[in-house]
Amino acid sequence: MESKKQLITMDDVRSEVRLYIQNTDSLALIDKAFTYAELHHKEQFRKSGEPYIIHLVNVAYILATLRVGPRTVTAGLLHDVIEDCGISKDRLAKDFDDEVATLVESVTKIGNIEFKDEKEYQAVNHRKIFIAMAKDVRVILIKLVDRLHNMRTLQYMTEEKQMKIAGETLEVYAPIAHRLGISEIKNELEDLSFYYLHRDKYYEIAHLVEMRKAERDAQVNTMIEDISEMLGQQKIPFRIFGRSKHLYSIYKKMTTKNKRFDEILDLLAIRIVTQTEVNCYEVLGYIHQKYRPIPGRLKDYIAMPKMNMYQSLHTTIIGEGGAIFEVQIRTENMDAIAEQGVAAHWRYKEGNKYNPEKEQHEIEEKLAWFKDFTTMTDDVHAAGEYMDLLTHDVFEANVYVMSPKGRVIDLPQGSTPIDFAYRIHTDIGHATVGAIVNGILVPINTELKTGDVVQIKTSKQSNGPSEDWLKFVKTSHARNKIRNFLQKKELEDRSENIAKGESMFREELKRRGMDEKEFMNPKKLETVFQYFTIQNYNDFMNAIAVKSLSMTAVFEKLQVRKPTLLENFDRLFKQPRPDKKNVSKFGVTVAGVDSIMISLAGCCNPVFGDEIIGYITKGQGVKVHRKDCPNVIHETRRLIHCEWDDEYTTGKYEVNLFIMATDRSFLITDIITVVSQCKAGLSAINSTVNDDKITATTTLKVIVDNAEHLRIVIANLKKVNSVLTVDRMTQ
Ligand code: MN
Repeated sequence: MESKKQLITMDDVRSEVRLYIQNTDSLALIDKAFTYAELHHKEQFRKSGEPYIIHLVNVAYILATLRVGPRTVTAGLLHDVIEDCGISKDRLAKDFDDEVATLVESVTKIGNIEFKDEKEYQAVNHRKIFIAMAKDVRVILIKLVDRLHNMRTLQYMTEEKQMKIAGETLEVYAPIAHRLGISEIKNELEDLSFYYLHRDKYYEIAHLVEMRKAERDAQVNTMIEDISEMLGQQKIPFRIFGRSKHLYSIYKKMTTKNKRFDEILDLLAIRIVTQTEVNCYEVLGYIHQKYRPIPGRLKDYIAMPKMNMYQSLHTTIIGEGGAIFEVQIRTENMDAIAEQGVAAHWRYKEGNKYNPEKEQHEIEEKLAWFKDFTTMTDDVHAAGEYMDLLTHDVFEANVYVMSPKGRVIDLPQGSTPIDFAYRIHTDIGHATVGAIVNGILVPINTELKTGDVVQIKTSKQSNGPSEDWLKFVKTSHARNKIRNFLQKKELEDRSENIAKGESMFREELKRRGMDEKEFMNPKKLETVFQYFTIQNYNDFMNAIAVKSLSMTAVFEKLQVRKPTLLENFDRLFKQPRPDKKNVSKFGVTVAGVDSIMISLAGCCNPVFGDEIIGYITKGQGVKVHRKDCPNVIHETRRLIHCEWDDEYTTGKYEVNLFIMATDRSFLITDIITVVSQCKAGLSAINSTVNDDKITATTTLKVIVDNAEHLRIVIANLKKVNSVLTVDRMTQ
């Protein structure tokens, strides 16, 4: 394809700019930018061999033809100085101003995104990230124009680069130009991309168009003459011309709508540009009076503008000899908007007081859809995507971040590297140990921003996600994956516990000289399960491993036999027999010590079956504490091993309980009833309503036989209506 050979100079830029900018400060700013760019890009050359400044002058020139503001032209001239000349944004702000510096910086940032056209959905995401990063419509314009000039000079690139850049242009840039209504640029970008991507098809269609050109031109010219004569008589101001479809649009219709070349080119197209809106309808009226319109083809985009601001009347008529003509009727203003879209906005409002913020705001207001337009496509999925864009705002609600390989991931605002990792792959999420964002190691709960390049550090040694991650992840996807992992881990831990419990139980059987095979049998353990309200064998082994069930208590139950009447009598009415073993009246044996005074500690009130430890006091013998009693837990000296002695338990142990409940009538009565139903004694009970007037605290002293008896009492108290917690007190 022939590039536009016309050599553009800075003088061309100046004269184009003067057509709509007269302010001397603005003109001086643009000149300064040219001198600045020329100086800093000195000795830099394009692939074509031309000095680099040629590219910048061309970009500025095209921008000027779009009638953009002076700062946009300035930024167009400077758009490569950050990237190619190593000039910082701050320096640019000093040498020009903040606004110009920000524009150039944004253009540079977008330029650094690697758009890959690997998959269709990626193209949609790329458009989103492009828009989200630009934030200012002027940045998009500069970038589009930059790309347009690069496409015009693409022949100097390697074939590989040509394909890559053309593909990216077609997938990302042209649709953006289309959505902004800049059909001039869109059409040229499409045709240039088409040429590089499908050269054979390009030439084929160009050839077909050329072959029919003479015939078609004749038909169109006759029609133009006829209409001109008619409108001339009515004294309506007008311009009329034939227009040709650009090649890519013909190709697209042939492939996507599966039409023959003839069917597409049979349509002859004419445009009439007039002065006022009323003129448009007048012209339409005269045309319909003279030529037969095809029903259903009249479109009034003046009353109902398209989303990209496009306004025009469309009709299809049958001319002399049955030729079909598509006619567009519009005002000059509408025509400018149709060709240059959002860019045409400046044409009618460039003045000395250029307020960029107001400008940007006005454009966005006019293009109410602007914020969301990137989610729109021309394909069949458009409807679904339209719903999508209604539900989330491209600018505010989403952030678009990239993997180092350029894959774009969109995430809700506030997302972290962990959310990102899970979106890449569940296994990567699970193995995440760190994150590098834009080359810097950051905490894994860092909030990501649009444009961030995120790299996840994983390790095989990672323990997997932790409970903490749930506190900061934003996506439900990551949340669910983490929860699943934690649940699975709990199950795995459980099976480990079961195995551990089994081996502990087996050891204990061995130690006691009991038969392993006989007692490792769930049938044999049935009574134990029932007694401790345990569901099954696995629960039992798990309980042993995590020590929620004491081994002593289990064996007490396993070896239990009904005491004979005589034994009962002995136990209840006789003092324990003095023994070689040192046994207290509480049923505690202190290892290796003869005759010593033993008493149960009043702070923790150990109960037969609790895990206990002795503390050697000064002059008061051994005090027996629960192993977890806060008063001894930090003791390292003066402790002595002691054990319960099955034979000499008194079966009477006093324990302090502490109950929190929602206050109600009969609460105390119900508590007392439960204690007595459990066959436990009760020596004191006291209940007070708390300050909140809602809850009540009840303390009670119960007398139980052993730890298991206590466990049953507590379990049943917890079931009492309105009871919240039941705890064993330690003073
Ligand atoms: Mn450039």
